[in-house]
Amino acid sequence: MERQFTEEIESLKLGDGETFRGEGILAVTKALLQSGVSYVGGYQGAPVSHLLDVMVQAKDYMNELGVHVEACTSEASAAAMLGASVSYPIRGAVTWKSIVGTNVASDALSYLASAGVIGGALIVLGEDYGEGGVVAQERSHAYALKSMMWLLDPRPNLTTIAKMVERGFELSEASNTPVMMELRVRACHVQGSFAASNNRAPAVSTRNLMEQPADFLYERLAHPPAIFPQEKKKSDVRLPAARKFIAERRLNEQFEGDESSVGIVVQGGLYNNLVRALGILGLANVFSDERGGCRIPILALNVVYPLVPEEITTFCAGKSAVLVVEEGQPEFIEQDIATTLRRADVPTKLHGKDLLPMAGDYSAEVLVRAIARFLAQRAPHVDTSSGARWLEAIEASRARAAQALGALPARPPTFCIGCPERPVFSAMKLVAEDVGRPHVSVDVGCHAFATFEPFSQGNTLLGYGMSLASSAGVGPMSARRPVAIMGDGGFWHNGLLSGVASNLMNHGDAVLIIMKNGYASATGTQELLSSPLEEVRAAASGGSATYADKTIENTLRGMGVKWLRTVHNYRVADMMKALRQAYTTPEPGLKVIVAEGECQLERQRRKRPLVAARLKAGKRVVRTRFGVDEDVCTGDHSCIRLSGCPSLTVKNSSDPLKVDPVAHVNNACVGCGLCGEVAHAAVLCPSFFRAEIVHNPNLWDRLVARLRSAFIRRMQPA
Ligand code: SF4
Ligand code: SF4
Repeated sequence: MERQFTEEIESLKLGDGETFRGEGILAVTKALLQSGVSYVGGYQGAPVSHLLDVMVQAKDYMNELGVHVEACTSEASAAAMLGASVSYPIRGAVTWKSIVGTNVASDALSYLASAGVIGGALIVLGEDYGEGGVVAQERSHAYALKSMMWLLDPRPNLTTIAKMVERGFELSEASNTPVMMELRVRACHVQGSFAASNNRAPAVSTRNLMEQPADFLYERLAHPPAIFPQEKKKSDVRLPAARKFIAERRLNEQFEGDESSVGIVVQGGLYNNLVRALGILGLANVFSDERGGCRIPILALNVVYPLVPEEITTFCAGKSAVLVVEEGQPEFIEQDIATTLRRADVPTKLHGKDLLPMAGDYSAEVLVRAIARFLAQRAPHVDTSSGARWLEAIEASRARAAQALGALPARPPTFCIGCPERPVFSAMKLVAEDVGRPHVSVDVGCHAFATFEPFSQGNTLLGYGMSLASSAGVGPMSARRPVAIMGDGGFWHNGLLSGVASNLMNHGDAVLIIMKNGYASATGTQELLSSPLEEVRAAASGGSATYADKTIENTLRGMGVKWLRTVHNYRVADMMKALRQAYTTPEPGLKVIVAEGECQLERQRRKRPLVAARLKAGKRVVRTRFGVDEDVCTGDHSCIRLSGCPSLTVKNSSDPLKVDPVAHVNNACVGCGLCGEVAHAAVLCPSFFRAEIVHNPNLWDRLVARLRSAFIRRMQPA
């Protein structure tokens, strides 16, 4: 796995009178244990991966508490785990990245929400929205509304986040409804502290088993005819119970301000940005206390669904206007508030998306502009000139930066140096020059870096494990076979059934390339069904550990795939040969190439301490590096365009007759050999050389080095 969480695991054991320090998502993990959770599941994905990763690594401690932890194969299996809370009074939590994970989980969630729960059920969502988001920009809020599950959006500080985890379970139990908690990237990674309390070993646990299964109660099944009364119960019983709990336990927070003729209603998760913006406008002191010493009254919604109508009308009463700060579209909260105000005949003017952008991240800059406009219209006596000056300064520095950076080329994100997936795309690029460019459907995972330059490959991206399925409609209409790229993570998540099984059942004819790097690399190298075993990894030391495992190949064969090749990624010529065959063979049916090569990140993580230990012990270590002979390099840079390795760069030639910069390998090179392989396969100039750096050389090394030096000296002109 990407990280060792030794310190974090220790902080999970803190108790009464101690202070937890760390990031938001680990505060959630700690709060789950304080809440007496019995089981935790999930599927990795930023920004919530650490929740599960830490628990998986803290296996011994979880066993001690009796908490069951499961790294699920998809969000759907995680959501279905919550079924335990339908029949038993036990608390469970699951986590994943949203919106994508919620999409995958939505079938199970619908049924869960219909049946209702008797044990608290909490779904922790990494709301990957806004700057830095990597998934389709949609809101989890829509799922909360359509399934009638409650949605928490805590203010991003650790005390509130931890409190809302505990209240979330209580709310779930008080209203027999699953509760979702959305945490944006900033909330997950916000640093802070909170007063810890003792962890609660759950009453029912892996150490304290239930003697009997639950009674058979038909009304707990989300099945007709039970689904009809369940739907009525949602609005008649569960919703009022939830509103009562939210109001009585004061889950939402109201902050007073002296400009009481106006107010701001904000999603809890945006509170920090709002206070920052008000601080810039001279209306809050962000350093005064945690509440910001704000002059404008604020209603911070730690629960964004359901809203409590009385809280809204009380906050708005006596105010001429209120601004709703709600990120993303559509404006669910604003519409909800408008309905409440209209029904209660409250005349307060409502602003929101008329002053704020409908889509996109609500950064401090966006909020400063919108609040200034709101106050200019509704409270013009309030001085916001400091905000105007701040915006002018931002514009000026932006213009200066644009001028300074104007001449620089864009630097798209790319694979790690030495990544085993890069050679596959180099080979695809070279084969396309011969047989033509195919339709390429790409998938979610590290291989999606190939959509950027210099590979620029991919026609569609429709979700995790969906690449082969998304080419099903293209193949029969195309003269050339479509190509689908899938990672081993995507293969196990969804690709095996949605893609491979569907293709085989329909006698499809397509090419599938499975990147078998051994892990769910893009999310932190979590383990998969086909990950190499620990002992295989240890034995592989510096080499690739993926070879031993044939789970993917055996599964494909068992399902009936006839055309199957496993190719070592770094052998570009072999990969080109396999691709050419797959593209052009007259043989019908699915053609699968398993591109074998362990994730370089994981491999280097294993290799680095071994090398360091050998060096420290004074033992011989040989490092392979590649280089470019600048006398030979012509400066046309085909090698860079074909391999895209970031350590392959350019430098000025020391030859005054060469005006173009020459290719150069910098110190980051891990010696994967791709550049040399590509140069060879593409018949480029012979400027690449392979060098071996020998640390702690033995007598033989020294003798050979001396002989070589002597020979070179002799060959050089006097
Ligand atoms: S994490 Fe692994 S698979 Fe992903 S880009 Fe880096 S080396 Fe490649
Ligand atoms: S410069 Fe060449 S050998 Fe070094 S990491 Fe990049 S592709 Fe591999």
